[in-house]
Amino acid sequence: MKAIVLISGGLDSILAAKIIKDQGIGIIPLNFRVPFSHVNPHSYNGMGLVEFTKNTLGEELRVADVNKDFIEMLLNPRYGFGTHMNPCIDCKILMLLKSKELMQEFCAKFIVTGEVLGQRPMSQHKQALSRIEADAGLKGLLLRPLSAKNLIPTIPEAEGWVDRDKLFNISGRSRRMQIDLAKRFGISGYPNASGGCLLTDRQFSVRLKDLIRHEELSLRNIELLKIGRHFRIGENTKFIVGRNEKENKYLEERAAAGDYLFLTEENAAGPVCLGVGDFSEEQIMLSGRIACRYYDLREDAVKISCRHVPDKKGLSLSVNPLGEGDLAGLRL
Ligand code: SF4
Repeated sequence: MKAIVLISGGLDSILAAKIIKDQGIGIIPLNFRVPFSHVNPHSYNGMGLVEFTKNTLGEELRVADVNKDFIEMLLNPRYGFGTHMNPCIDCKILMLLKSKELMQEFCAKFIVTGEVLGQRPMSQHKQALSRIEADAGLKGLLLRPLSAKNLIPTIPEAEGWVDRDKLFNISGRSRRMQIDLAKRFGISGYPNASGGCLLTDRQFSVRLKDLIRHEELSLRNIELLKIGRHFRIGENTKFIVGRNEKENKYLEERAAAGDYLFLTEENAAGPVCLGVGDFSEEQIMLSGRIACRYYDLREDAVKISCRHVPDKKGLSLSVNPLGEGDLAGLRL
């Protein structure tokens, strides 16, 4: 007997997998990569999720990509958004639909998640849990071991594949029972917060809405949203300012044909900046003045080079910093 276990990256799904594995069920840990996950490299005691899963569950983590479907769903989620740009119900349905497609390949009889009743206001109340199960076409085949005793018995429980007595009745937002369970199972090094999804972040959501409004939602633009300071310069033009050495390097390396790369010239210390879209001469100057705000200014003006990638030579701009009021109006 085998089950697919959806591994989100938080503690709950690892516990759910462990509970089922301890009942003698073969588990297939499965993680869906979405463009909005934000994993701190220091989560899991410096390990990645693949290594952490192997260490705690003794199984290989399968990673599946749903980027394209996720972006499509994000444009028009059937059940809408949570507090920010998080379409949690549709997101879960999408992942379960994809898992269902894989059941045959993995010879899995049912699917397991670490969902906890009442933990999240949008997607984990009773009605939402049964809506998700129904829309994913998994009636009776979706087992939530952490809250199973608060829910109607599933087919694996009714059929005796899984012992319901060894499942749990956790509900609500407190993490106390999960932390106790982790101790009991000897699991450590898991991330403290259950988050990791940028769609629940207010500032990221503002930037994302701007992308959608300007019909610029693409994987590349989503990746760029994760770094730097962002400015909307015009209908089709965005300007991104690196905030540190790592971001500067990233922007320089990712500059693609058609982008504008703004770099420091002699005697100046400042960020690498990237312009994406069609820039007019005025917009190039405006961008230079935005960049100048983040320079270590020794004089009133600095020289910045602006290169239209892949041109080898750039323009040399002599710019002074944009005023705070104008800057604030462009900042995302
Ligand atoms: S928080 Fe993000 S990853 Fe989690 S269910 Fe919601 S949209 Fe999906």
